[in-house]
Amino acid sequence: MKKATLLLCGLLFLLGIVALGTRIGTQQSAVAQSSDLSSNQFVVRLYYDDPAAIQPIAATFDVLEHRDLEEQYVLILVNPDEYALLQSLNYDVAIDVARSAEFQRPHVNLPNQLDGIPGYPCYRTVEETFTSAANMTINYPDLATWIDIGDSWERTEFGSRNGYDIQVLKLTNVNTPGPKPVFFAMSDTHAREYAPPELSTRFAENLLANYGVDADVTWLLDYHEIHLLLMTNPDGRKQAETGLSWRKNTNQNYCSPTSNSRGADLNRNFEFQWNCCGGSSGSECAFNYRGPTAASEPETQAVQTYVRSIFPDQRDDDLNAAAPDDAMGVFFDIHSYGEDIFWPWGWGNPVAPNGVDLQTLGRKFAWFNDYYPVQAIAYGVTDGATDDFAYGDLGVAAYTFEIGTAFFQSCTVFENTILPDNLPALIYAAKASRAPYQLPSGPDAVNVTLWAESVLPGTPVTVSAEITDLRYSTNNGVEPTQNIAAAEYYVDTPYWITDTLPVALPMVAADGTFDEKSEDVTAVIDTTGLAAGRHTVFVRGQDADGNWGVISAEFLDITPAPTPTPTNTPVPPTPTPTPIPPTSTFTPTPTNTAVPPTPTFTPTPTSTAVPPTATATSVPPTATFTPTPTTAPTMTSTPTMTPTATSEPDNGYRLYLPYVVVSGD
Ligand SMILES: [Zn+2]
Repeated sequence: MKKATLLLCGLLFLLGIVALGTRIGTQQSAVAQSSDLSSNQFVVRLYYDDPAAIQPIAATFDVLEHRDLEEQYVLILVNPDEYALLQSLNYDVAIDVARSAEFQRPHVNLPNQLDGIPGYPCYRTVEETFTSAANMTINYPDLATWIDIGDSWERTEFGSRNGYDIQVLKLTNVNTPGPKPVFFAMSDTHAREYAPPELSTRFAENLLANYGVDADVTWLLDYHEIHLLLMTNPDGRKQAETGLSWRKNTNQNYCSPTSNSRGADLNRNFEFQWNCCGGSSGSECAFNYRGPTAASEPETQAVQTYVRSIFPDQRDDDLNAAAPDDAMGVFFDIHSYGEDIFWPWGWGNPVAPNGVDLQTLGRKFAWFNDYYPVQAIAYGVTDGATDDFAYGDLGVAAYTFEIGTAFFQSCTVFENTILPDNLPALIYAAKASRAPYQLPSGPDAVNVTLWAESVLPGTPVTVSAEITDLRYSTNNGVEPTQNIAAAEYYVDTPYWITDTLPVALPMVAADGTFDEKSEDVTAVIDTTGLAAGRHTVFVRGQDADGNWGVISAEFLDITPAPTPTPTNTPVPPTPTPTPIPPTSTFTPTPTNTAVPPTPTFTPTPTSTAVPPTATATSVPPTATFTPTPTTAPTMTSTPTMTPTATSEPDNGYRLYLPYVVVSGD
């Protein structure tokens, strides 16, 4: 939209706002007071020439997590007075009508809506999210646990009947031993961001429903851990569920006990580089108030303690110290909105010691969702933020995702865009957590296909895949790529297993030569000796720089050996009748009459003396094999695929498609 048009629309919009405010003010003052953070506010674009000019604005105004680097504007949430103030200060501001309209949409239940946030049925409330998580642990006891890691501010302050537990949904197969690589994702750090917790919850449900169905999901849950802090700030979220634009926690000690501007910004409260660099506010009512001390808030403390318990410390405290190349673990803080992917540092300009590799993984993520990958500082200084803590304190590869295009994102956009764009990125993050500074440089193995999914042992099976080094976003720079140099597969024992010797089996380029950045590869699997039942074929590829990429897998089912032929049955059909000489009891009369012995003896002498093979045809030895199911291989490890008890309305979207995308594109 042209700036002039924007301004005109904005003017008309503002007139509507003022009229609305007047009406509310005269008729429903109580309503006006309780919603002074939303209905009276709107979204404006503040254009800038110098990014530094934005910095002082953040101390007074609610600068949203969205910045347009091309047109050079930030979005700010204002009320009419603040809008007038910005104009009087000669700032170049214009109302963003579309975003304002989305922001102001009434939060009332849709017709027939029984659950979810009013007007936004795709988003489970805090309670509904917790119920869903608890149900996952009931339905998948070997795969899911729900861990209490601390209390929200209201629970800390007012006791267990108030506020909430801070809880993590941990997903991994408890029957496979660790230690395992860890992918941790937190959401709802900022309360008004509706989409992130639902994305995380759907991700969990999707993983559990596909365990034993999708080979990639299955090995991820067997060999990796996924920790999802669904509601980091549940107190604030309850406020936001009413339609308030609540960002911080609800700590009543800051600003004023009843103000809707109270609380601390949890994403400025973490102790690493807290209050170091002007990237947070010391004003208690400010949207980015950092809190009085580092990690002053109980939510922050719970996260810090838990994150330190699941990741080893892999980085020295010196700001210039890098984590080793083979460091493990990926950390996500999922926010909205802006369609950006950030990595440390946010506190200052230097490239982080692992910055090049963080950028590589960031560009990989952005290939899936087409977001804008950039070091966090590009959008302004932030200090005391979660991702700087996770990387700075522990050396973990840490990212902030800004998903979507609105705080109160429409369910249509959430279901049709945010979910399909981001679930594959989350899967990739879980895969990369084994070596996030190495694997993303390598090529991806995709489209793993077995030409027969179920065969008799000994039947050769062709496995094919695509190995591609081209899956990087080019939205902000170009990642170096190389030709594919090799590919290999493993049956059942992936390369990281140490107690059994993994066997790498080579794959060849389908066109005969490894000389492109994306190659179709193939091999023939010798299934001789594979036991009946389910097996997993793991595939990975290497580029010409020697980087191996993440693996992808497919299931191979071996059916039981065929029914043995009767000749294999060593048991004689009638072992008891030992041949008795017919003459033994029949004393021949000494007379020399040539009368033959009467054939009254039941065992016909000739037949009983014949080897069993002659008579075996009359005995059905195959009967002993009938109990063995020939079409159902051992599925004992496959959980029952009972539908997950979700509370969101059934919109027909069962989330299988993204996994097809992961392994099929
Ligand atoms: Zn946020």
